[in-house]
Amino acid sequence: MLRRFVPFDTGCKPYHSRPMGALEIVLLPCLADNYCVLLHDHGSGQTAAIDAPHAATITAALNERGWRLNHIFITHHHTDHTAGIAELKRHYGASVTGPGAEAERIPDLTREVTASSSLEFAGHPIKVLETPGHTLGHITYYWPDDALAFTGDTLFSLGCGRIFEGDAETMWDSLSKIAALPGDTRIYCGHEYTLSNGRFALVVEPENEALEARVAEVERLRSEGKPTLPTTIDQEKETNPFLRPQSRTIRARLGLEGALDLEVFARLRQLKNKA
Ligand code: ZN
Ligand code: FE
Repeated sequence: MLRRFVPFDTGCKPYHSRPMGALEIVLLPCLADNYCVLLHDHGSGQTAAIDAPHAATITAALNERGWRLNHIFITHHHTDHTAGIAELKRHYGASVTGPGAEAERIPDLTREVTASSSLEFAGHPIKVLETPGHTLGHITYYWPDDALAFTGDTLFSLGCGRIFEGDAETMWDSLSKIAALPGDTRIYCGHEYTLSNGRFALVVEPENEALEARVAEVERLRSEGKPTLPTTIDQEKETNPFLRPQSRTIRARLGLEGALDLEVFARLRQLKNKA
């Protein structure tokens, strides 16, 4: 079924690149299904990367635009988000910000952050949300003035990350923090998993019309080789089963009508692991 879709483009061409005030955003496919996001502030000429899956892909995208990399922001320690750090740091002298709680597992950090750190990039304020569960130190970068959030492998479009290091409660708390951001916040996550997430979502909540429409859109985008990101908080609240444990349809499907939201979430995550 998946095979009729255009395979993921592992080249350095960005799927889209749009000017947004002074900030230009490039969503860059890396490796099999990872994303790096490049943010270029036209006023200062500075460029930041969110995660560093693959140095050569990122360098090629920077060269194409005549940009130099000043900052790298890392969401968590997994290799598919950090493998490019050392080379990019050496090549550009970029600073590397990442979760203090995972500093031992991310050797090239130049700045360790927690929820109380105050951060900015070229005058754009950045808040750190601690969003453990996928890994224990995982962080999300929220850019309030730009209505952007980089959720790594915590919140995906129509899904959420696997719980490798935390438990269901930890992950649910983290997703709840992200869900509390303003509805128009644009979400960039670490992987292009939206289509397979969408198929699972339709199984557990088949009567959700917004979800049906979103999956149709996602199928079209992927068949054209385009990304399904960014999404928004509002869109995810309407369509992502992991943010919808209150849904009567989902509860009825799982036979968990009277359960706590956390219990519904935990069951959904278990079922998705087996899907
Ligand atoms: Zn990961
Ligand atoms: Fe990942």
